[in-house]
Amino acid sequence: MPFSGIRYSENSQRVDYEAGEEACVLCGAPLARARQTHWVRVVDGGRFGRRSDPDDGPGEMGCFPVGSRCRWRLVRAGVEVWEEDRC
Ligand SMILES: [Zn+2]
Repeated sequence: MPFSGIRYSENSQRVDYEAGEEACVLCGAPLARARQTHWVRVVDGGRFGRRSDPDDGPGEMGCFPVGSRCRWRLVRAGVEVWEEDRC
């Protein structure tokens, strides 16, 4: 599930949004937005969706960055992860 890493809240407190960082969707670790290339969509208020899901679907939360280590965990779990374009 998105935002479900056991240290998500702890990790995400280290994210410096003003410095251009965002939290990894799974573990909350800070990621540099400028170097971020992998994305996932979150729908239904907190479930992984598909890239092609509508932008205005129920509970649509948008597209979030995922770090390189967490990316492989999600791919193995069958979550759609894509490169380069956010949404
Ligand atoms: Zn992560």
